[in-house]
Amino acid sequence: MQIGGLVKFSLSDYTGYPCAVIFCQGCNFRCPFCHNGDLLDCKATTTIPEEEVMAFLDKRKNILPAVVISGGEPTLEPDLPGFISKIKSIGYKVKIDTNGSNPAILATLLDQQLLDFIAMDIKAPKDKYNKLCGIKTNITDIIKSIQITTKSNLPHLFRTTWVKSLLSEKDIKTIISWLPDGANHITQKFRPETALTPGL
Ligand code: SF4
Repeated sequence: MQIGGLVKFSLSDYTGYPCAVIFCQGCNFRCPFCHNGDLLDCKATTTIPEEEVMAFLDKRKNILPAVVISGGEPTLEPDLPGFISKIKSIGYKVKIDTNGSNPAILATLLDQQLLDFIAMDIKAPKDKYNKLCGIKTNITDIIKSIQITTKSNLPHLFRTTWVKSLLSEKDIKTIISWLPDGANHITQKFRPETALTPGL
C-alpha cells in the first residue's frame, strides 16, 4: 500500500463514528478543485509504511470503531482488498471514499464483504464530467459505480464539491436527478485556498 497520510482521530469522516483516516497516495483524476494535491502523484516516495499504520490501528482498536480509506484514489492500490481485510480482522468498520472510476474493484470489495460504508464523488453532470475531473473519464465506469453503490444495501453517500464557477445550481439539480431514487447526495463546500487550480 502506498499511504500518503494518516489522520489519527476524526469525528467528521464516518457518519456516527469516531474514526482514523488513511490517505492512499496517487490519483487518476486531476480535479481542478482538489485540495489533496500532495496525494496525487502515484510515484511519491515519502509514504508512511503500512506496518506503521497497522501498528497504530492495532493499538487503538479498543478505542476507535472505524477507519476511512480515502485518497488520492484507494481503488488504484493493488493490495487494497488484502489491506482492508487486515483492518477488518482486528474489528474495525471500514468506509471507502472513491471517485468511482474503478467499479470492478468496488464490486470485489463488496463481494468479499470488506466494506461497511461507501462515499462516492459525483463530480458533475455527465456532459461536464471530463472538465471537473481534469482528465478524459470513462463515464460508463462512473455509472456502474453509482449502480453498485446504490444496490450494495450499505450506508452510502454521493458527494459533489460545489465550485460555483464551474457548476451551476441547474448542474446540481441535474446530478441529483441522475442518481437513483433514494440515493443520498450532499454538496460539499469548496475550499479555494487549497485548490489544485488557483483562482477558481
Ligand atoms: S478530488 Fe479529484 S484529484 Fe483530488 S483526490 Fe479526489 S478524485 Fe483525485
